Amino acid sequence: MLHLSDVRKVYRTGAFTQAALDGVTLTFRDNEFVAILGPSGSGKTTLLNVIGGLDHADSGDLVIDQVSTQEYSDRDWDTYRNNRIGFVFQSYNLIPHQSVLANVELALTLSGVGRAERTQRAKAALEQVGLGEHVQKRPNQLSGGQMQRVAIARALINDPEILLADEPTGALDSSTGLHVMNMLKEIAKDRLVIMVTHNPELATEYATRIVSLKDGKVTDDTHPFSKDEDVREAKPARRASMSFLTAIALSFTNLMTKKGRTLMTSFAGSIGIIGIATILALANGVNAYIRSVEEDTLSLYPLSIQTQGINIAGMLANSTGGDSDDSNSASPRPTPRADAHETKMMSRMFSGVGTNDLKSLKAFLDSAESGIAQHVTSIQYEYSVTPQIFDADYTKPRQINPNKVFSSLGMGGNSSSSLMSMGMSTDVFYSLPDDLELVKGQYNLVAGNWPQGSEECLLVLTGSGGISDFMLYAMGLRDPAELDEMIKELSENKPITVPSDSKEFTYQQLMDARFKVVPAASFYE
Ligand code: ADP
Ligand code: MG
Repeated sequence: MLHLSDVRKVYRTGAFTQAALDGVTLTFRDNEFVAILGPSGSGKTTLLNVIGGLDHADSGDLVIDQVSTQEYSDRDWDTYRNNRIGFVFQSYNLIPHQSVLANVELALTLSGVGRAERTQRAKAALEQVGLGEHVQKRPNQLSGGQMQRVAIARALINDPEILLADEPTGALDSSTGLHVMNMLKEIAKDRLVIMVTHNPELATEYATRIVSLKDGKVTDDTHPFSKDEDVREAKPARRASMSFLTAIALSFTNLMTKKGRTLMTSFAGSIGIIGIATILALANGVNAYIRSVEEDTLSLYPLSIQTQGINIAGMLANSTGGDSDDSNSASPRPTPRADAHETKMMSRMFSGVGTNDLKSLKAFLDSAESGIAQHVTSIQYEYSVTPQIFDADYTKPRQINPNKVFSSLGMGGNSSSSLMSMGMSTDVFYSLPDDLELVKGQYNLVAGNWPQGSEECLLVLTGSGGISDFMLYAMGLRDPAELDEMIKELSENKPITVPSDSKEFTYQQLMDARFKVVPAASFYE
């Protein structure tokens, strides 16, 4: 049983103080579905973080099974968070470059559970939420509702007694939201679920108890705990195991997403995990694990320095900060002027574009003076040369790189929609890092050899040996005419006929693919 007694939490930002929790006293039963209802800024998230041990109150007490947490050591908090609490957030907090299965397994990774058992438990949890068939997908291949179910599976994998959910349906459309709500209701049958929401209808429909919060105070409680109710015996805590890592990384990314809920979110998530994890690694001795996460992430999102740079953080601040002209004004709600006026969004963006002197930078990095070598795994220089690659076998010359397949639709071209193509790259070829060891550490070679010369290439399969049909078209292993036909139908607004067959290949068939690189100069002959 959880009991909060006169919990207070004040945030100070500069001279400004904000009471996020202002004397909250509440008791939660071991088995109920509580909705915490309140307007934005009423302290709901703060309350949830205090209950989950992600944040600590300034005063007051959280009493768990009749034991005060005032004397809790860090290790006690770890035990509590890891064994008894599951978290689900509005923004899912999934790691974008890892499979659904890996995301769920992560919650067990540091717990000393063996690999086979980890996988088996993660699969079982995913099946429980109806995602058994999607385990190898990455989060961006799932719908919002499915991602939230992954997050729920992750929260359930330790079979926590308490599930905390912060606006779990906030980012979902209403029908998907209902699905997630039904799932939470099911989960609440044999444990305590505390869900934060600002939607009174959802709260009334699903929760067994509604606690209303306003300005950090409880203003209403539909089913308060009474002293006469049976109180269960204090249970012995289960073994402490997993580290603080998952908990804090999740909390951190949850904060980050409040700032700019955009493309940057997932990126910030990865960086956040690295940053926090690195600090924790020192304390917890999980260096090897952290290192591999860092390498995985950085090989997908390397630090890159380009000739031209835009201050993205500045752009984000402008776009989320509302009226940027008034950004210096201290008042959060400036008095409107009597006329309308231009706010310089585009011109600010363009005036923020800077140029880097890459030649000097390279000279510096290459010199001993920089001392950079000891801090990096690999430095790679790219020059704006795109190899022109053609299918060597196809009877009619067909250019594969740069990929022209979608240019007829205005995607992937250099038209105004190229912003869109940034989001969905249609590239088939990528240059390998100079240091092949970086790649070798992350992939298993299943056939052939690692490339030795500039005329060889690697084909990357998914963990289970998958290869996208897009790649097959590019390699000529599926008839490219099929794809052309689909694109034609799409552009003419006709019903699209998709091939219904699914192909399989031997490794040898894949390795038999041949390409021709044509130097730009040859185009002039
Ligand atoms: P809710 O989840 O109900 O929207 P929160 O618990 O996030 O509300 O926040 C309650 C109040 O505390 C808000 O006024 C918010 O601005 C403030 N607050 C929350 N987190 C911080 C923080 N890290 N620093 C300063 N103020 C904060
Ligand atoms: Mg909140």
